[in-house]
Amino acid sequence: MFVDVVVVGAGPGGLACAQTVVRQSPGRRVLVLEAGRGMRNRPCPVDRGLRCTGCAGICNVISGFGGCVHYGDGVKLSLLPSGRRLVDHFGEDRAGELCERAFQFLTAPLPERPALHGTSLGAPVIEAFARHGLAIREYPVAVLGETQVRDMLTALYGFGDDALTVWEKSELVAAALNKDRLTVSVATPSGPVTVETAHLVLATGRHGVTSTQNLLTAFGVQTIAPDMSLGVRLETRAEVLAAIGVEHPDLKITQLERVDRKTKTFCFCGGPNGGRIKFTNYQRSFGREVITLDGHETTERTPGQRPLAANFGLLCQLARPGTSTEVRAEILSDYGRLSAGRPVAQSLRAFMARVAEPRSWPELAAAVTFEPSVKDLNTARLDTLFTDAEHASLVESLRRVMGSILDHADVDISLDELADDVVVVGPEVEFLWDRVPVDKDCKVANLPISVVGDAAGIAQGIVQAAMMGVAAGDAIANGKLA
Ligand SMILES: Cc1cc2nc3c(=O)[nH]c(=O)nc-3n(C[C@H](O)[C@H](O)[C@H](O)COP(=O)(O)OP(=O)(O)OC[C@H]3O[C@@H](n4cnc5c(N)ncnc54)[C@H](O)[C@@H]3O)c2cc1C
Repeated sequence: MFVDVVVVGAGPGGLACAQTVVRQSPGRRVLVLEAGRGMRNRPCPVDRGLRCTGCAGICNVISGFGGCVHYGDGVKLSLLPSGRRLVDHFGEDRAGELCERAFQFLTAPLPERPALHGTSLGAPVIEAFARHGLAIREYPVAVLGETQVRDMLTALYGFGDDALTVWEKSELVAAALNKDRLTVSVATPSGPVTVETAHLVLATGRHGVTSTQNLLTAFGVQTIAPDMSLGVRLETRAEVLAAIGVEHPDLKITQLERVDRKTKTFCFCGGPNGGRIKFTNYQRSFGREVITLDGHETTERTPGQRPLAANFGLLCQLARPGTSTEVRAEILSDYGRLSAGRPVAQSLRAFMARVAEPRSWPELAAAVTFEPSVKDLNTARLDTLFTDAEHASLVESLRRVMGSILDHADVDISLDELADDVVVVGPEVEFLWDRVPVDKDCKVANLPISVVGDAAGIAQGIVQAAMMGVAAGDAIANGKLA
């Protein structure tokens, strides 16, 4: 069987690429391979208060039609300059155009263009953060609630074009160069299948974090190791993060003074309805079972007996000796020793003081005033995953960020008073991906292969993945590549 283009991964990067090709070059046939399950067949046990079981080797949070955009969750669509490395990569004008097209691609199915927040911030919020030595990074962000995400994915799923075929539960397992074509081997539910193609687009995101790198290395591609960040996710009652969440739904901060180790807020899930902590199960991609954290803003959850929770990530850039591979191995081995690679929790007070949490998880969960969004946790010394310097940077940053948030929210409570009502969950890890050397068409030199989205290691995010997908799709449709 021959198809003009094989796109691997039905996340925002792969789907944007596939649709761009078929819309712009009638007659070209595109096959999308998706290792995960169908759009509506991706329940996460953790979301339902159960234990993470790994879902038979395919984590439904990060795999399936939609990729990490998970049917049933909300998302934030953060526009440039969020993901500013793409501005360096594409140039300012092209990046701006791609960003607008990516946003259009994602939101066109919605009845109206979503409102954007996060820019033209008022003086009170800017001053509240400046008093704590912080500046807010302004960029436009749209929050899509659960219904809007369902509508968006349903429209992407229903995109009908004879030239585009999607194979679900079908995983690319190998690729070999055969003159100027590629032979790709696919594991499908009905057995192995071989497909010939003129061009391969890898949009494999988190699920493909190590397999894609192995494939590229086998083709002789030299990837560039990432700067790693390690941190935690803080969960507290939604009311505390609501005001800042409305003003800037994807709050990111810059430290005004020079600091020893940079820290940053990450994937902020505030807003009046708060958000949910998500487990992302990497299975044995790193040689041992590893679950890390993410978050999703929500708009439609209904509270039970206790108020809803909101959360945000706080990450510290690592400056440990050794290569990234060695640092990553060290972190994963510490995590394995701490809890066999499963997320753990500590009260903020215990985390800050670097002492053992005396309570079990059920006791800690019962003691806070809100309903924690995840049940599958144990208490442990999460703080021990960090060096003294990393821990000190995180605590200092946390004091500043929470101090600013509390000042701005005009809540009459100090961080020390709040410390028993904040749960620290972790670890959260950023930049697992090596950076792949791709050109402005997202193509790897001397190979009929493009790499887009998270897999390219340039910038994370839904809009950012779709931008790269559109760029690769343009080049393929214009006959520049295949
Ligand atoms: C829980 C969570 C919440 C997030 N929230 C936000 C948010 O609100 N806003 C935001 O901008 N970003 C968010 N992100 C990040 C964002 O979702 C990703 O940056 C984005 O989805 C990357 O898109 P992608 O197309 O590169 O890859 P992905 O979305 O990861 O999709 C990759 C797809 O490729 C498939 N695949 C991998 N390998 C193979 C293979 N060998 N064969 C076949 N298929 C394969 C996978 O199954 C997967 O479906 C979140 C991430 C997570 C995990």
